[in-house]
Amino acid sequence: MSRAARAVVDLAALRHNLQQVRHAAPRRRIIAVIKADAYGHGLVPVAQALDDADVLGVACIEEALRLREAGIDTPILLLEGFFHADELPLIRRHQLQIVVHGEHQLAMLESLPAQGTAIPAWLKVDTGMHRLGFSPEALAAAWRRLDACPAVAPVLGLMTHLANADDVGDGTTRQQLARLAAVRPDPAVAVSIANSAGILAWPDSHGDAVRPGIMLYGASPMLGETGRQRGLRPVMSLHSELISIRHCKKGDGVGYGGSWVCPEDMPVGVAAMGYGDGYPRHAPSGTPLLVNGRRAALIGRVSMDMICIDLRAQPAAAVGDPVTLWGDGLPAEEIAACASTLAYALFCGVTSRVERAYIDG
Ligand SMILES: *Cc1c(COP(=O)(O)O)cnc(C)c1O
Repeated sequence: MSRAARAVVDLAALRHNLQQVRHAAPRRRIIAVIKADAYGHGLVPVAQALDDADVLGVACIEEALRLREAGIDTPILLLEGFFHADELPLIRRHQLQIVVHGEHQLAMLESLPAQGTAIPAWLKVDTGMHRLGFSPEALAAAWRRLDACPAVAPVLGLMTHLANADDVGDGTTRQQLARLAAVRPDPAVAVSIANSAGILAWPDSHGDAVRPGIMLYGASPMLGETGRQRGLRPVMSLHSELISIRHCKKGDGVGYGGSWVCPEDMPVGVAAMGYGDGYPRHAPSGTPLLVNGRRAALIGRVSMDMICIDLRAQPAAAVGDPVTLWGDGLPAEEIAACASTLAYALFCGVTSRVERAYIDG
């Protein structure tokens, strides 16, 4: 091993978090969302560890094909359906499920002949997010058309997505639930509403199938809390090590722009980790990290390959000592808050040069 930057992915923690989904939403079908390379954790290893999920949810056919090529035969749902008609033969061949959210998709499905495997499809309704889905007014007609498509069977039910479920004080979720109830033709029609925030905070949104993403990876989507408070375990720990220690003088500027000025003579550590690895460039001085398992603070600007660390509290720290940027012992949610971003974006942002190392327990 040369450069030490690596993301350790704990598959036992992942399975534990899937269990937490089952506890929070008992008896519901689970569509485990593993789009975007399983939120940066690695698509295939995560899918293999989640073999207990009912369905795997991905964003596009390329992700689904990677799963099938790896021999994964769990049902797979394309959360945004298909983008172009040339995907439809592949969808049939690999027995993928789709979400139909727009008129253009309906038109393509209507011109598809019945021969071959029928395509199971959810119909998406826009209950207030105003991103994808048929408006409540257009829904009944869309349902009739989808149901009549010879190539589609069965129509799995109605799907919608919550816009503000991370905020328990916001009224939008109740409105969205009411709008969905109003268009659901009868209780025998299945509904899928809840993302992680719905699962954790809105029991009325659990419906028939839940769609956990971020909580599987151990982070809470709820404002101002961490996954740990919900009994979740962090799955990804981002690690590196000290590659240099310098003894700076009072008044020395550290890093690009000299944005951090040493208030006294002090040791400054350098870790092999930067925005080229996906560490957030906007993390300010003071953002916590762990050196030898103990809290220390980032100082100065984040560079592409390196960050600088205030080592005043650890005068014995040495080159080669371990540095943890987030994960075990340091919630990604806390780093995200410092850098004005989300744990979602931190995880997805870890770049391909960071080796993923898988552990189990
Ligand atoms: C990404 C996604 C989810 C998962 O959301 P989390 O907030 O990560 O739980 C659920 N449903 C759909 C349609 C998605 O695109």
